[in-house]
Amino acid sequence: MKVFKFGGASVKDAEGIKNVYDVLQKVGHEDVLLVISAMGKTTNAFEVVIKNYFDKSAELQSSIQDIKKYHNQILLELFEDESHDVFTAVSKIFSDLEGFLKNSKASNYNFVYDQVVSLGEVLSTTIVSHYFNFLGLKNTWVDVRELIKTDNTYRDAVVNWEATQKNISKNVKKKHLNITQGFLGSDDNNFTTTLGREGSDYTAAIFAYCLNAESVTIWKDVPGVLNADPRYFENAVLLNQISYREAIELAFYGATVIHPKTLQPLQRKEIPLFVKSFINPLLPGTSVSKGADLEPHTNCFIVKKNQLLISLSSLDFSFIMEENISEIFALLHKYRMKVSLIQNSAISFSVCVDDKFGNFAELKTLLSKKFKVTYNDNVSLYTIRHFNENSAETVTKNRDVLVRQVSRETMQIVT
Ligand code: ADP
Ligand code: ASP
Ligand code: MG
Repeated sequence: MKVFKFGGASVKDAEGIKNVYDVLQKVGHEDVLLVISAMGKTTNAFEVVIKNYFDKSAELQSSIQDIKKYHNQILLELFEDESHDVFTAVSKIFSDLEGFLKNSKASNYNFVYDQVVSLGEVLSTTIVSHYFNFLGLKNTWVDVRELIKTDNTYRDAVVNWEATQKNISKNVKKKHLNITQGFLGSDDNNFTTTLGREGSDYTAAIFAYCLNAESVTIWKDVPGVLNADPRYFENAVLLNQISYREAIELAFYGATVIHPKTLQPLQRKEIPLFVKSFINPLLPGTSVSKGADLEPHTNCFIVKKNQLLISLSSLDFSFIMEENISEIFALLHKYRMKVSLIQNSAISFSVCVDDKFGNFAELKTLLSKKFKVTYNDNVSLYTIRHFNENSAETVTKNRDVLVRQVSRETMQIVT
């Protein structure tokens, strides 16, 4: 079986969905499991709904209406006839949402978040599945929440591999086109969970692992993995081949083209990952597999924006030693701060972190009891893999350098 993943950018409008159909006609769709994300920026739009809900904002209704209108417009362009079943299916998803928001007594933000944002993927797959059937491309809509089981860490759930493996082996039909949702799972009480923002690539890898798939292809708006994000760097070069190890490093440091959790399950079974263009589906793109580290061998640039550089120093000039550092890391872990650079000296310690869940204020209060805490917010972390003497210049020109760190293969610069 092959697993294909189409992200938000590929299904952002009716044209995009028609294009997905064309891609399948060109590359084949027998024995394929399609993992699809929410359309365009729907997940962000649902985040606004949740915020309005908790703030008891007057904008709550209009924020739901915006999402409804966006999906309805796509429906009208895809289906000529408003009496098609899909219109009822989509309106039911919205009436269930309104029912949930009206009746739920839950005060746990992360729990409510997952119950609500997950509808983005439920909507997109419902629409795509109906549309393909309408065009005569028979497929089965699969509810991923009945297959991928997780713990109840809402917004960042951890997969229960044993249960997931069992469900997938038993329930996924082979020799058939299956359509399912990226990003979602469910906990022991069957409440919806999510695997972390941008997690649909990871969903594709979970299925591939459990199905012993032949390959995974993630279809993107870029020709493949480039040596830099073309949004921020000119003249980015396509990498034809990269090893699992190189891909993990690039993704970990923030190359958002592949979600970092995607590589481990694939590497374990040596399932190749292809990153290809949904605009030119017959081009080879990038292959991530066992083999050459990087072909062509070139320097790779990664930027993570909106990071936080936290610096701690002791209040009494005492050393910051192992025991303090382990305490600091326990707190960073507890507050779910992802650390991407560490630097220390005798009496100071700095980390560059991604405060994805907005926990810094609380963490800072705790740290301030023991350390002098200073910080720079909104910094950018540049990572250059396989750097050469000119690479640093590319990122430091006209910028204040706060930290620079160099190892054999990797240079990191915080500006
Ligand atoms: P999806 O629609 O699957 O969610 P994303 O938008 O998350 O797709 O990923 C594709 C985007 O990743 C590209 O448009 C590009 O701007 C960005 N990107 C970041 N780093 C790289 C890289 N090294 N190579 C290619 N694209 C990259
Ligand atoms: N829709 C989710 C998000 O935007 C998951 C994904 O797109 O991969 O984060
Ligand atoms: Mg994405």
